Amino acid sequence: MAITIEQKINQLREELRQHNYNYYVLDAPTISDYEFDIKLKELQQLEAQHPEFFDANSPTQRVGGEITKNFETVAHKNRMYSLDNSYSKDDLFDWEKRLQRILGVDQIEYVCELKYDGASINLTYENGKLKRAVTRGDGFKGDDITTNIKTIKSIPLQLRNAIVTDFEIRGEIIIPLDGFEKMNKERVEAGEDPYSNPRNTASGSLKLQDSAEVANRPLDCLLYQVVADKLPFKTHYEALQVAKRMGFKIPNTMQIATSIHAVFDFINHWDTERHHLPYETDGVVVKVNSLAFQDELGYTAKAPRWAIAYKFKAEQKSTVLKSISYQVGRTGAITPVANLEPIELAGTIVKRASLHNADQIAKLDIRVNDTVFVEKGGEIIPKVVGVDLSKRPKDSVPTKYITHCPDCGTALVRKEGDAKHYCPNEYGCPTQITGRIQHFISRKAMDIEGLGAETVELLFKEGLIHNYADLYELKEEQIIPLERMAEKSAKNMIEGIEKSKEIPFERVLFALGIRYVGETVAKKLAKHFKNIDALMHAGYEELIAVDEIGDRIAQSIIDFSKNPVNVQLIGRLKNYGVTLALSAEALQGQTDILKGKTFVVSGVFSKMSRTELKKSIEDNGGKISSSISKKTDYIIAGENMGPSKKIKAESLQIPIISEDEYLAFLK
Ligand code: AMP
Ligand code: ZN
Repeated sequence: MAITIEQKINQLREELRQHNYNYYVLDAPTISDYEFDIKLKELQQLEAQHPEFFDANSPTQRVGGEITKNFETVAHKNRMYSLDNSYSKDDLFDWEKRLQRILGVDQIEYVCELKYDGASINLTYENGKLKRAVTRGDGFKGDDITTNIKTIKSIPLQLRNAIVTDFEIRGEIIIPLDGFEKMNKERVEAGEDPYSNPRNTASGSLKLQDSAEVANRPLDCLLYQVVADKLPFKTHYEALQVAKRMGFKIPNTMQIATSIHAVFDFINHWDTERHHLPYETDGVVVKVNSLAFQDELGYTAKAPRWAIAYKFKAEQKSTVLKSISYQVGRTGAITPVANLEPIELAGTIVKRASLHNADQIAKLDIRVNDTVFVEKGGEIIPKVVGVDLSKRPKDSVPTKYITHCPDCGTALVRKEGDAKHYCPNEYGCPTQITGRIQHFISRKAMDIEGLGAETVELLFKEGLIHNYADLYELKEEQIIPLERMAEKSAKNMIEGIEKSKEIPFERVLFALGIRYVGETVAKKLAKHFKNIDALMHAGYEELIAVDEIGDRIAQSIIDFSKNPVNVQLIGRLKNYGVTLALSAEALQGQTDILKGKTFVVSGVFSKMSRTELKKSIEDNGGKISSSISKKTDYIIAGENMGPSKKIKAESLQIPIISEDEYLAFLK
């Protein structure tokens, strides 16, 4: 017998859930990304055709898209405590003595875990399904960030084996180091400042308003505690093992220690081994294993008595500072770099370290030939944290910060409030010029085939290009004679440049390299302004009225637009036929009918899927919010609208309209 659509949908969901688990939790995928995408698309299509089978926990719901302006504050059912810290073995001995006294026993079994360095989260499961995800907040109440958390694929939306069905589980949202580095590389390519450390980036990501953007961040979640009124386990260890079988990511680094000495072994091991972990840790958390003992010990005003954190010392070494060099970034920012006598630190050989900026150098009085302390803490790049003055050579002289650009010789400027010096010669400084062109041609921007970063430098050195508009004037005959170029490569390059004229407007906008206008912002701007002229003539008020455009971005766009050099460049791009407006296709069906109106969508719809409905609202100029507030203008309700939403809508007297009424409204 043929299976029904519903069965097919459930089967695909089941399969995709398993593949997500294999990939994100076990790190052992059994199918290719491509095969996964095909299955996901198939499911998306079926769900769109059959909205009656909508499920908020379907794997398709992980791509994000919901916008949350204000995260709702929710009280924690069980308070989220912090941890007491310890810094030495004596501290731990003292802690054990306290426990022995309270419990009246000699032998205590512990569980040692790493202290994952990220942002804490509390996940609530009901009937084996993820119900809610709330940040720690002040421990009593936090922000409901469920829409964002759902995009993290290692968190089960539905349990694999619902051994326990109703409970809370706590963990840490982190960004693994490799994902962090990749993300920073992309930011630098887009002309944005790199993030300084994974922890702050992880917690910042959780509060992004656009869940689709959260879905793009390499977030992961490591769990460390199961909480419920009554757990069917005797030990913490057992609870976590069961959580693991239910599909949660519980690091294998966790270990039972039968005595405090075994705890020390664990600490000693990870004090050095931690540098080889795929994510950051700043210490060890030691917990009493027996849940009955935990109950008996209870809590102080701020932390459990049954657990304690042991903090690793940031590894520090001293070495000689041989020289200071200054790097110019694509945006003209100057970064001083310490060139060091190589040393081994935190498992790698360090030859260079960050000196941050002029103030930092002055404050620490860092000089060439000094013996300096270098530390590798939360940041990926080691930094100089101090000087060993006892080793300072007699003839040492204070460091004079450079006053002129090492690249073009222009006098540096430093704006009020900026920690860094900048080379203001935006259009004459070689690094800035080539950097901008390299960004323009990059994969996520104009994606010009046959042209790479090194060739850009070569073309610039040969005087063939001075800006990105010049690319469109290049002739094959000019390129062929260049080093390592041949007829074929020249032809490819010209063809690639020609083809880039078809790149859609939002990517061109990103390619222009306007400061702070990354991919997402470019999309928002393109959608709102529809063509480059409207954007370049937009005033401050108009700019900041656009969703997610703040003061900094608005100012940067205005600065860009009023610069005659840019006006001329844009004029040239237009003449060459580069796409500087949304295509007729993209414009189709877009109106301003809903301008200024905010909608909340709830329930299941029959004429279109939720995603289609939301797109329709946005295409017609409306805004979508995930929660009802005084600012909501309408609620579009389908079948099975959430009861709590209904009550809230009624109490705030917000009109509830049906799908049909909405469609009539558009007409
Ligand atoms: P603190 O923020 O210093 O008070 O430390 C408490 C925080 O450490 C908790 O809120 C957790 O977010 C975090 N943490 C990281 N790893 C663990 C772990 N293995 N067990 C308990 N808490 C952890
Ligand atoms: Zn310069």
